[in-house]
Amino acid sequence: MKQLDYIIVGSGIAGIAFCENLEANSKSYVVFDSGEQSATGIAGGVVNPMVLKRLNPVWKASQFMNKARPFYEGLQNKLNTQFLADQPLLRIFATAEEQNDWVVASDSPAMEQFLQPEIINNTNTNINAPLGYGAVRSTFRIDTPSLLQAYRKYLQNRGKLISEEFIYDELQEYADHYLYKNYSARYVIFAEGSAVLKNPWFTLDCIIPKKGEYLIIKSQELKCEATLKGPYFLIPGGENTYKVGATFAHGDFSYNKTDIGRQTLEEAVLKMIKCTYEIVDQSCGMRPTVKDRRPLLGSINDRGIYFLNGLGTRGLLMSPLLSQWLYQHIENKSPLPPEVDIKRFDN
Ligand SMILES: Cc1cc2nc3c(=O)[nH]c(=O)nc-3n(C[C@H](O)[C@H](O)[C@H](O)COP(=O)(O)OP(=O)(O)OC[C@H]3O[C@@H](n4cnc5c(N)ncnc54)[C@H](O)[C@@H]3O)c2cc1C
Repeated sequence: MKQLDYIIVGSGIAGIAFCENLEANSKSYVVFDSGEQSATGIAGGVVNPMVLKRLNPVWKASQFMNKARPFYEGLQNKLNTQFLADQPLLRIFATAEEQNDWVVASDSPAMEQFLQPEIINNTNTNINAPLGYGAVRSTFRIDTPSLLQAYRKYLQNRGKLISEEFIYDELQEYADHYLYKNYSARYVIFAEGSAVLKNPWFTLDCIIPKKGEYLIIKSQELKCEATLKGPYFLIPGGENTYKVGATFAHGDFSYNKTDIGRQTLEEAVLKMIKCTYEIVDQSCGMRPTVKDRRPLLGSINDRGIYFLNGLGTRGLLMSPLLSQWLYQHIENKSPLPPEVDIKRFDN
């Protein structure tokens, strides 16, 4: 029997960020991950504090940004793997009105930290941006497959990763600990993304998975080094490849790649670029979206089982700070911000 402080289920970005809190506080833990269907592995990896459609910063944008970058830089050093890229994020202006709205928004004190006021002219003849771009400040990109691979290797080397499915029915509750197979722990943290819907310990009806698809294209001519935001994101991925997406499909809970997804994204590509390209792949993932579009932290049973979930979007931006809030809530009884507290759905 191995006595631990924590059992974690899921090593997507939520699980990783929580583990980092445990490491910083010398807590013992193991992580179960089946290695299937990770939203983190599919994500474009853009860390962006802005809702570009409405030109609003996301909730608590500065706090999340201030925590995120040092978190990933520290993790790069610790894992000795590079996965953070300073890739500019440029919004393509489709109309003069959009251009004007940008200039007005960037002038407001709340926005100047996020929006660069100058309009950037497009000099790449293979990109369709006659009205130029607006640049979002301080964004960066995480190569999520590299991060996941490096973190899992790190855990594996320390005997902390159990690469198998966590069977919920085998988790047993005792007065002051939980028992799962050979592991006894005071706390269990479920960070299993949209798979939480299969979890019998999760008794709330507030997660609605939202499928997203990407098209992976390759173009020798495009030579674009910035992430572009047109009808969808176009994200450079190295070796002349680009991810285009991701779609937001409602009511489709399958992991199938769809014709409609491909068609929608091909139309977007044709609007954004003017050179030849080939489609090399299509991928899809499931966003663990919450009804009110805010993350979901805390305990339902108040007896040692906690959730770190609801990262439908912006998981890479938010996980570093959310995981710290959850850790301090568990260990120091710090209250969670009511906007993310799971108790808001527990009535
Ligand atoms: C198409 C798409 C594009 C996106 N683009 C971006 C982006 O550019 N920027 C951004 O910040 N966010 C983006 N997101 C959102 C982001 O992916 C999520 O916010 C984040 O990855 C959620 O992380 P998570 O750790 O909660 O879940 P996941 O990454 O899904 O991790 C859950 C893990 O739990 C494991 N698991 C589940 N059940 C079990 C079980 N019973 N036993 C063992 N293991 C289990 C799974 O194998 C998985 O590894 C995107 C999402 C999608 C779908």
